Amino acid sequence: MHGDIERILLSEEEILRGLDRVAQTLTEEYAGQEITAVCVLKGSCIFVADLIRRLQVPLNLAFAYVQSYGDRTEPGELVTHLMPTEDELRGRRVLLLDDILDSGRTLRLVKRELIARGAADVRTCVFLDKPARRAVEFEADHACFQVDDLFVVGYGLDYAGRYRNLRFVGALREEIYAGEDVTP
Ligand code: 5GP
Ligand code: MG
Repeated sequence: MHGDIERILLSEEEILRGLDRVAQTLTEEYAGQEITAVCVLKGSCIFVADLIRRLQVPLNLAFAYVQSYGDRTEPGELVTHLMPTEDELRGRRVLLLDDILDSGRTLRLVKRELIARGAADVRTCVFLDKPARRAVEFEADHACFQVDDLFVVGYGLDYAGRYRNLRFVGALREEIYAGEDVTP
């Protein structure tokens, strides 16, 4: 599996140092408050597991799933499935967590829905930010790392369902996806 990786962009040590830094900022930001952390499946599960164990505030963990009805070239319509219960959202401070902020469509939509469902405050924290790819106006409140405009896998991020279990973030060798548009 490692043979499919062209180069490593973030090692496990770098990743965990970045998470320590952001978790400390979040712990200070939410000091004395209770939050609901919302993990956008599937890509964020590893990031969220590592981040929330570094947060020193009381929290509930909830999940959201976003489906895209597009083909390989056209960004499709996005449909959000929110799994938090009413109690986990209404009047609560929500920390929305996603693996990567790319066009911005996913997080903009999920944030809107969380507010529509009664969240008192929604802040966003992403593992990776690809600012060059933004298609809609949206910025995360916190990002652990910025990456250039290239397709990355590992640490939760997949290509065709694979590579999520790599401990690092890497760029795939071109021949793995040769001829295929990997635009999410
Ligand atoms: P957005 O709605 O911001 O365009 O897309 C965010 C989603 O696209 C991410 O949650 C992720 O699933 C997918 N995505 C965007 N860029 C990459 C990438 O470089 N690698 C992988 N594996 N997924 C990506
Ligand atoms: Mg995703």
